[in-house]
Parts: sequence; structure tokens; C-alpha cells
Amino acid sequence: RHILLPEVGEAGQARLLKSRVLLLGAGGLGSPASMYLAAAGVGTLGMVDADVVDASNLQRQVIHATSRVGMPKVESAAKFIADLNPDVKVVPHMERLTSANVERIFSDYEVIVDGTDNFPTRYLVNDASVFMGKPVVHGSIFRFDGQVTTFIPEKAAKKLGMSEAGPCYRCLYPEPPPPHLAPSCQEAGVLGILCGIIGTLQATEAIKILLGRGTTLAGRLVTYDSLKLKFRELRLRRAPDCPVCGPKPSITGYIDYEGFCAVG
Ligand code: ZN
Repeated sequence: RHILLPEVGEAGQARLLKSRVLLLGAGGLGSPASMYLAAAGVGTLGMVDADVVDASNLQRQVIHATSRVGMPKVESAAKFIADLNPDVKVVPHMERLTSANVERIFSDYEVIVDGTDNFPTRYLVNDASVFMGKPVVHGSIFRFDGQVTTFIPEKAAKKLGMSEAGPCYRCLYPEPPPPHLAPSCQEAGVLGILCGIIGTLQATEAIKILLGRGTTLAGRLVTYDSLKLKFRELRLRRAPDCPVCGPKPSITGYIDYEGFCAVG
């Protein structure tokens, strides 16, 4: 049915089959995002996740199943996807993203869908996306609220033939907060359905980037309040003095913000 859409057509569907998307996390956001990307026929889906399926995850991590509790999440997700669309190749990366492996892992992919939930990874992903010119579709969730935006750094905009690059994460938050002010990395409660809304918005952005259609969320942050059922949009601007994507960057290599999470 995608081929019936003039904006996709046979050429667009063939393009999707050749496309390579990397999902960071096979959890709450990665589940719906990867399910729809696989259904859409994105030919290669890389998945980075070092965890195993836990029964307490299933309220939101809908790609997994009770029968697969204890199995690595990347393996469980690959099983679902093989059943849904055998034309999709899943590349499992059962490891934690670090400054040592980020370039090796990112280099094979065109679009990064970030569903990770901690600050150290967020900064690492941002810096890699600026250095390597990879668009990042960012999603995050907390309790009943979610947000989504797309970061398209200058090098990525050039590759994609876009006229203007958008801000990066450090344009908004140049440095992480000091550890004693950082929120705890322990998991907060979250409405499972919220993951479906935010994860499918991320998949939509990835498909648009791959097809070169529509307007992305570069420079715009969409927030969603599920209790009020309200979407809002905020403008995001590039910071002229951004430490990583500005004209005089002070950050030119990767930083490991290890031990960053405040305890409890
Ligand atoms: Zn920036």
C-alpha cells in the first residue's frame, strides 16, 4: 500500500529496502519504532541493546513476549521482525554504546533512532552525529510526558541535500549538569502507551529522512502530554557558540561521562 502513495511509489519502496537504520535501545521506544520500520520494509535495522527481556518491561516493550523473558532483547526483537517481514535484516549489537565503539557501530547506518534514557549516552550520540554527519531522531519519555525532535547537523544536511542544518543537543544543553544535580538514572514509571506514540513519531521521521519527503523536526521539539492529550511545539535554534557544532568547537573528541548518574 506504500507503493500506491505517489510520495513513496516503487522507487521509494526500493529506497527503503536499501536503507540502513540504527535503533539505540530495543525497549519502550525502540519496540514500536522498529516494528513499523520493519513493516515499512526498511531493509537493514541495527539494534543496540545489552539487556535481556524482563517481564516488567512488557507493558511498554511490545516487540518482546512472555515466552522470550530472559532472552537478549536484540535476539527477541529479531525473532519478531523475521516473522513480520523476512526481507528485513536485523543486525544485533548486544553491547553498551561507548566512546570506544560509537564510530564503529554508527558508520554502517544512515539514520540513528535514539531511544536511550541516560545523559552519558545522549551526549555521546550527539557528538558522534555531529562528527560523522548522521541525522538523529531523538525521543524521550517520562511518566505521562514525551518529546521528540530530529537533530540534523551540518555534515548530515549536506549529505541529505537539505539547505539548512538544525541545532544539536549541545546547542540546547552545552554540558551535562553536575552529577549531584543530575536526575537519577533509575527507571521512572512510564505509561506504556506513551512509548507507542513517541516511538512511532520517531519511525515517521526516519522514513521521511530516508525518502527525502516532507519536513522533519529539525529545529522543532514536539512535546506530548498524554494526561491532557496535548501536543506542543517549541522552536529550537543553533547556538552560535555551541561547543561541538559551532564555528569554533572546543569539543573535538569523545567524552565518557561515566559514573554520571546520581544515586537514588
Ligand atoms: Zn550544536
